[in-house]
Amino acid sequence: MKTFSIIFLMLFSLATQATCQKDRVRVQVLGSGGPELTDQRASTSYLIWLDDKGIILLDTGTGSMLNYEKSNANPNDLSVVLFSHLHVDHSAELPALIKGFYFTGRHRDLAVFGPTGNSLLPATDKFIERLFSSTGLYPYLNAYIDSSSQASYHIKVRNVDVTKKQVRFVYRNAQMALSAVPVHHGPLPALAWKIDIAGCKLVFSGDMNNQFHTLAGLAQHANLLIAHHAIPEQAQGVARQLHMPPSEIGRIAAEAKVKKLVLSHRMTRTFGQEVKTRKQIAKEYSGTVLFANDMDIFHPGY
Ligand SMILES: [Zn+2]
Repeated sequence: MKTFSIIFLMLFSLATQATCQKDRVRVQVLGSGGPELTDQRASTSYLIWLDDKGIILLDTGTGSMLNYEKSNANPNDLSVVLFSHLHVDHSAELPALIKGFYFTGRHRDLAVFGPTGNSLLPATDKFIERLFSSTGLYPYLNAYIDSSSQASYHIKVRNVDVTKKQVRFVYRNAQMALSAVPVHHGPLPALAWKIDIAGCKLVFSGDMNNQFHTLAGLAQHANLLIAHHAIPEQAQGVARQLHMPPSEIGRIAAEAKVKKLVLSHRMTRTFGQEVKTRKQIAKEYSGTVLFANDMDIFHPGY
């Protein structure tokens, strides 16, 4: 009897963990555009809310800090920054965030996770060092990376290796578990991220063309997949080397059986093609498909 009770409790516990508490979780799009100067959108950034607190920021693209302010998040609630990769349209406004904390009375460390580097982009820890070291671009902010300093908080950086094309567990605390997998974004080191939070799985493709075929594995049964829709179906050349067309997004969403699909990182070459894009995706994936705009809020699907 006792054994049965224990098994029942274990099963119940697993079931509870697997249930997405969707009303506790939302993703706010702080930047739905790409790097263009003409798209009237901020570049990539997503704020993940849990119980009305914005606790994770994924990418800090150009323009995202103004939208972060508009979100009315309390900056002291933010505990983690994730980077998909370090292109300008995903990383440029990190210094604005770090400087801004000076005025919020922040007293808790900030964890930062992003990819290792290569000859084209530094590793995430080097990126931060080049920004904030005493010989870097903003030496007056050096105390935040100098763990021996008396700064009210410190930035704690960890690189995620992109050389092994496998899903890897990165971090866990009481509120979240974070996993990542390398994705193919031309020659750039890049990651897709999965955030397990309140029983929900949120997955972010980042920029990628799916040549590594790693995203569907990460996104299995995701409640929300935010996929980067930077090119139309007919794109060729460099753009196609860097990004996935709608049909590929549809195949991934179908293979992973995601509950809800959001298309972001929209660019002028895809504007006005939304009907076509939907048709291309619908050939593969029959679930909900939504287009992101700045400040939009998405709840997990179920
Ligand atoms: Zn991008």
